Amino acid sequence: MRVNYHLHNQYSSDGRGTTEEVCGRAFELGFEEICFTNHAEMLADDGGWALDLVEARQRYENLQHEIERIQPEYPDMRILLGAEFEYRPEWVETLDALLDSVDFDMVIGSVHVVDGEQVSGGPTTGAYFEDRDVTEAYGRYFEVLAEMIDWGGFDVVGHFDLVKRFGVKHYGQYDAGQFESEIRAPLKKMVEKGLGIEVNTSGVVQPPAEPYPSLDVLRFAKEEHVATVTIGTDSHVPTSFDQGLEAGELVLRRSGFSEITLFSHRIRKNVALTPIEEEA
Ligand SMILES: [Zn+2]
Ligand SMILES: [Zn+2]
Repeated sequence: MRVNYHLHNQYSSDGRGTTEEVCGRAFELGFEEICFTNHAEMLADDGGWALDLVEARQRYENLQHEIERIQPEYPDMRILLGAEFEYRPEWVETLDALLDSVDFDMVIGSVHVVDGEQVSGGPTTGAYFEDRDVTEAYGRYFEVLAEMIDWGGFDVVGHFDLVKRFGVKHYGQYDAGQFESEIRAPLKKMVEKGLGIEVNTSGVVQPPAEPYPSLDVLRFAKEEHVATVTIGTDSHVPTSFDQGLEAGELVLRRSGFSEITLFSHRIRKNVALTPIEEEA
């Protein structure tokens, strides 16, 4: 099945494209199921992000109405309403309230900020890496990821090893094997909590040149019996809608997974990964 479970449009303040444009592009590309996962929080004037319950709920409801209007035009493509929640200890209460008040199909939980510093772009990203050696920078990120999983107010962990996006620039090539115990700890918690992992293919076109997470992390996930796996491109504009998707599916297969997970109103169902079509 051709699906995209991580995508942003103009309802994310870092995204572009109307709901019609994104759905049209997805249909042209042959997608059978897509899930909008716009950010709950909004970009603030200082380059940081802010979260407001009323405002966020309004944006998701507006998108939900658009999806309901557009869906009948695409009987062969299911259009879902999801979200990407950014974990920060001070936001947990608001995010819980948001989760309770919007009828999401699936929610991604993501770490973009560690101890107040951005790790995936933005004004404080350089400082996070400059002030820490590789062990500390990656180790602390995975600790915060485990904290987010302890909270667990979402369905799927987003871009599990996102810290490598800028990490590779500061410390060179990333080897997940070097952080095996730091990586297995959050994976074990995910299994206890029934949370899934996503294959986020934006890393394929970014400096790491591989999905988030890497092949080794997915192998660990398989060994730890993580049973829910989604795949998404984290596209922020319609033109990059399917970025890295084929590479991501390949990594997923190579890691031993044979199924992906689909959601509906936060209920999940696993389906077989489509067999690779041989090019004539
Ligand atoms: Zn993200
Ligand atoms: Zn995203």
